[in-house]
Amino acid sequence: MRNKVRRRIFIITGIVTLFALAGAVISVLIERHVTEKSENEFVLQAEEKQNGIREFIGARTDILDLIATFMGGESLPNAEELSRMKTLEMSISARRLGVYIPTADTCLDTNGQQYSLYDISIWEDTLAGNNAISYLKDTGRIVLSTRWIRNGEVAGMLMAEFDSQPFSMKISEPVFNHNGTNLLVDENGEIIVNTVSPEFYDDKGNFLLAEETPGALKLMDYIRHFEEDADRVAEISINGTRYLVYGAGLPDYNGVIVVSMAKSEDVYGVTRKTVGLIAGLFVLTVVVLVFQVAFAMITGKKRDEEMERAISYDDLTNLPLKSLHKETVAAILEKGEGKYAYAIADVTGFKFVNSTLGYEYGNRVLKYIADILSKAVTKDENVCRTSGDHFAMLLKYDTVDELVKRLETMLNYCTEVPENDEGKAAKIFFRCGVYLINGNEDVNRIRSRANVARKGIGKSMSNEIAFYSDEDFNKDIEQHELESDLLNSIKNEELVVYLQPKYGIPEEKVIGAEALIRWNHPEKGMIAPNMFIPIAEVDGFVKEIDFYVFETVCRKLRDWKRAGRQLITVSVNFSRLHLYDEDFVGNLIRLSKEYEIEPKYLEIELTETAIYDEMDRLLDVMYLIKDAGFGLSMDDFGSGYSSLHLLREMPVDVLKLDKGFLDECGNADNAREQKVISHVISMAKDLDITVLAEGVETVEQKNFLQNASCDVIQGYYYSKPMPIDDFGRKYFKR
Ligand code: C2E
Ligand code: MG
Ligand code: MG
Repeated sequence: MRNKVRRRIFIITGIVTLFALAGAVISVLIERHVTEKSENEFVLQAEEKQNGIREFIGARTDILDLIATFMGGESLPNAEELSRMKTLEMSISARRLGVYIPTADTCLDTNGQQYSLYDISIWEDTLAGNNAISYLKDTGRIVLSTRWIRNGEVAGMLMAEFDSQPFSMKISEPVFNHNGTNLLVDENGEIIVNTVSPEFYDDKGNFLLAEETPGALKLMDYIRHFEEDADRVAEISINGTRYLVYGAGLPDYNGVIVVSMAKSEDVYGVTRKTVGLIAGLFVLTVVVLVFQVAFAMITGKKRDEEMERAISYDDLTNLPLKSLHKETVAAILEKGEGKYAYAIADVTGFKFVNSTLGYEYGNRVLKYIADILSKAVTKDENVCRTSGDHFAMLLKYDTVDELVKRLETMLNYCTEVPENDEGKAAKIFFRCGVYLINGNEDVNRIRSRANVARKGIGKSMSNEIAFYSDEDFNKDIEQHELESDLLNSIKNEELVVYLQPKYGIPEEKVIGAEALIRWNHPEKGMIAPNMFIPIAEVDGFVKEIDFYVFETVCRKLRDWKRAGRQLITVSVNFSRLHLYDEDFVGNLIRLSKEYEIEPKYLEIELTETAIYDEMDRLLDVMYLIKDAGFGLSMDDFGSGYSSLHLLREMPVDVLKLDKGFLDECGNADNAREQKVISHVISMAKDLDITVLAEGVETVEQKNFLQNASCDVIQGYYYSKPMPIDDFGRKYFKR
């Protein structure tokens, strides 16, 4: 069971882990996919903006290129050239359009004014590429420049100065879904055209992408390490805000990069939220799953434990049930540590406890015994309730004397049962059979030997302990042989039905008979029912025997009937085992019909029972028997713990007083017992029940019973049981 739980935990943990892993992988894949898609979308939108910026700049550069086509060689432009330049200058809204002739080392604007080159780096930049774009810090203007070549040499440079604002406006256009901006930077990270997007200025107007701003250096870093072919999307953090940056070179403008950037949150926002949601849901699912699994494991474990308990432990006493006990005993013996004895104790008079003090109190007594015994055994020993009032114990011992003393003490404690609510305590004793185990013997064998020893003990008013002996062993063997022989007894026609007459008092005439079985064993001779009926009751074979007797009686009655004889009622003994057969009464009816015997000529003898849980069933069956018209007698009344109170509820016709009852009462000295029997008789008569006394042997007994108004007498005084045909010959003389 424990292994099962462990395996279950293992499987469940495995599943949860796999699920978690799968979830993690899926989340990562989704995240990647979604990130990639978002980035692609961002790049797409950024490229669109960058193209616009390129066109914006390109349109102006194109004019410069156009001018360059009509520019001459190494000399400054002439008046005509200047005039053409002037026209074009206006078309691009330049603040100043000029030309630089390196050989002359001077610049000339369209108004014919000479001026010096602002910065030699512009010339250098222009030489390095075809064009250049620069920022003039002094004037805040943007300069676009382009060179031209004459006779294979760079002949000069055209420069257009612009207000920065249109450039700034152009590059400040949002990049991604109406957010973000662009920058125009040189390869050193210097900003050429800055953004005016308010997103990049704080409340005080500080530019957030300035180098001093925390994180902005990273932007510079990005730019400085910008490579056209490299992975161009990067994520940087500026002042705690994360941005996605995507740069692209401005072809033909030496080293200039257009950088587009947008808040990561805008780019990934929806998708990250979605992924977050998916991940959240996933985490939630895992958490729920883990809880469910934990719950299932806890309750499952509990259920397993409960089930294990239910199938292995006795509800009433909490002691292990037979199967578990057997396993435990076998395991202990297998270890072979020390000497062991097996004891089976049953409570003498327990039925009486139940019938007089009630079933509930009976249960309390059993629980009390179980508690004492379970406390008395060590962990190397074991105790179990094998059935009703039977307790079995595996006990360790050193010497037999010690074992006996220990058992006596245990049993003495057990007899001191608690009182019931009315202050009455049951008087109980134990019959305890002990078998001294020889090593690792088979548990069934051990148990049956302890049982044999126990059964050898007669009923007495004290605790009795008996050890299994060789004699018992021989009896045991004999019993086993008998058991197997018995199964073939019907087939081999070894069972013989006897009848014992019943005499009506005072007429002293035969008014009926009781059918009693005998076993004519081929080797052992005639065997009395007391010797084999208990054996047949163990495996239920007794039920076949009873019906064999019943059918034999029916057949005989039919023969007699056919022979024109006046029938008498014959009673047949039926074991209590029939009570649980649904078709018991049905079979009685079927046979009586088959042999055409009126049910009133057949009487069913049932032994009184004080076991309460059988009571309802017993009453049901009794009424079925009565309804079918059969006679019904209660056998052996007074042998056990018969209750007159119960008698009132039972639909019996005949009360058969047990021989033992009579033995005590029939004695003339026993005035008190005689009174009891007289009262039982008169009470039964009050209830319209016929009283029959069994085992009447003496004339004194007969006289006493006659005086006490007993109705019927059965006993050796009149006749012993005899073979059925002898009976017929003797009592049906024509
Ligand atoms: P029981 O049904 O109480 O039968 C009466 C027993 O008392 C019979 O013993 C009978 O022979 C014996 N008996 C009758 N008069 C006297 C007497 O004056 N003195 C003495 N000492 N004994 C007397 P039996 O035939 O040995 O049967 C014993 C028990 O075996 C029966 O007790 C009954 O419980 C059981 N039995 C017998 N035949 C059957 C059967 O066919 N089916 C079942 N289930 N049980 C049977
Ligand atoms: Mg009987
Ligand atoms: Mg009897």
